[in-house]
Amino acid sequence: MSCTGELSCPLFSTAVETEDRDLTLSDYEGATARWCPGCGDHSILAAVEKLLVTEQLRPEQTVFVSGIGCSSRFPHYLKTYGFHGLHGRALPVATGVKLHRPDLTVFVVMGDGDCTSIGAGHWVHAIRYNMKMVALLLDNAIYGLTKNQTSPTTPQGHPSNTQPRGSWLPALDPIALMLGVTNASFVAQTAEWVPAHLAATLRAAHRHDGLAFVRILQRCPVFTPGIYQLAVQKPDMIELLVHDDGVTVPELERSYRNRRVHDPADLDAARQLAAPGDCVRLGVFYRNEARARYDVIRRVPERTATERVALLETELDKYAL
Ligand code: SF4
Ligand code: MG
Repeated sequence: MSCTGELSCPLFSTAVETEDRDLTLSDYEGATARWCPGCGDHSILAAVEKLLVTEQLRPEQTVFVSGIGCSSRFPHYLKTYGFHGLHGRALPVATGVKLHRPDLTVFVVMGDGDCTSIGAGHWVHAIRYNMKMVALLLDNAIYGLTKNQTSPTTPQGHPSNTQPRGSWLPALDPIALMLGVTNASFVAQTAEWVPAHLAATLRAAHRHDGLAFVRILQRCPVFTPGIYQLAVQKPDMIELLVHDDGVTVPELERSYRNRRVHDPADLDAARQLAAPGDCVRLGVFYRNEARARYDVIRRVPERTATERVALLETELDKYAL
């Protein structure tokens, strides 16, 4: 990939040279991933790379934005553009990128501490703003990077360094919460140990016309090795939500026999399915492409790179001594 933009910064370049050939995995692979052996983040990275290849998303037109956490190292491992930002602030950064460069494909990668605790305010409002992007919550139910603190999604009773006798409160349910946010347009859940389902869900999310929120159940063999173990070992504990407007994966029919036809247009049914139960549900809970999109309503006027630089300099001049 070469860049002939007027400026070297990808967010301002206007004349990016794209090569006229099919892109392959090597066009996307960045640094070697340094997650622990057996970490579920490895399979999520592989699924995302597969999506980039199958959808032929140009690296110079794609941005991965993350906050802080194990999963937030994602941008380093891809040859797209990336922004590894502040804890809990991935969604505001992604919102700014998308608002000013609607031509870019934007992915947001967050952990459970990142998204559902310090970033919870941003999370709710980004869902309501419904700007076209894919927001991934890689949920290992613990703060992993900072070595084992209870997060909002830690199961009740699970011990950690901050609550050694076990998490005191019931875990926050990200799917139920998102289904309660006004103007939410795509809410799905998948699991990194079911790669075919993960791939199909990522594809559906990418093609959704609005903000697609996907919670990915992610194993952390270091700090929460047991929390998804039963569901991994016993596929009958998983119920797949299937529908032509959601996700259907025919090759999973033999191993995952619990299937439920669920129309993602039915919000009431989605909320009932999100209620706590004996099984883990994977699929698209809700989808509505008629929801209002802030990035369509408040489209930022197109500007040349020179005009953008002039605007930036005007702003910076206000603070010059
Ligand atoms: Fe993955 Fe857990 Fe290791 Fe973090 S601590 S890299 S989440 S296995
Ligand atoms: Mg976590």
